[in-house]
Amino acid sequence: MKPVITIDGPAGAGKSTVSKALATRLQFIYLDTGALYRALAYKALKCKVDVNDPDELGQLCSSTDVILKNENGVMTVFVDGEDVGDKIRTEEVGLAASTLSTFPVVREKLLHLQREAGARGGIVAEGRDMGSVVFPDAEIKIFLDAGAGERIRRRHEELVQKNKPVVLSDISRDMQARDYQDSQRKIAPLIAAPDAIIIDSTSLNVSQVVEKILEHISGIHD
Ligand code: C5P
Repeated sequence: MKPVITIDGPAGAGKSTVSKALATRLQFIYLDTGALYRALAYKALKCKVDVNDPDELGQLCSSTDVILKNENGVMTVFVDGEDVGDKIRTEEVGLAASTLSTFPVVREKLLHLQREAGARGGIVAEGRDMGSVVFPDAEIKIFLDAGAGERIRRRHEELVQKNKPVVLSDISRDMQARDYQDSQRKIAPLIAAPDAIIIDSTSLNVSQVVEKILEHISGIHD
């Protein structure tokens, strides 16, 4: 079976770009698990569900149909039949996702979907708890980090490119809040699995990070 490759790290560390490029290089499936949490957060905001209220979140989870479909090697999230696409890529949705993802009812709902997607291997799965919780037996685990200033700059550039202009200081504030919440929560916090290799991408470009990961993979298979 082809391996499962997990890529965890904080917001703006370059996980998505690197994971997509790596999946394309290896012809693996690409799974963005943040999109699952964002998709639920998107619906919560749309339906005015309080993302701090476990009862309301429980109801949201039991009344929402979330599925993943493999579309040309990319796992796409559908919520109640809707492809939520770029609508989930705002800081507002990101922050709401970070809050609702602290609740067990939400994590449990999404856990089996993620494991099912990786069950046949050949997948690059990115998120916060891929190597520590979702795929603890994954053969290749990466923890991708970058300095805070660089992560803020990258997120700003990404949002500007998507025509979603935002103020740098707002991104900085939201990212700090999200980093804090993601790393301090009780269940499945953002953490490098003990067997993960840590890559600091502050001064590396995407291809350099991908090359480093490929070198690590060939080292394991030598
Ligand atoms: O990766 P992305 O920024 O899209 O994730 C949005 C939020 O979803 C994160 O801030 C995090 O709180 C949550 N998340 C999570 N576990 C994952 C992936 C994302 O808790 N595996």
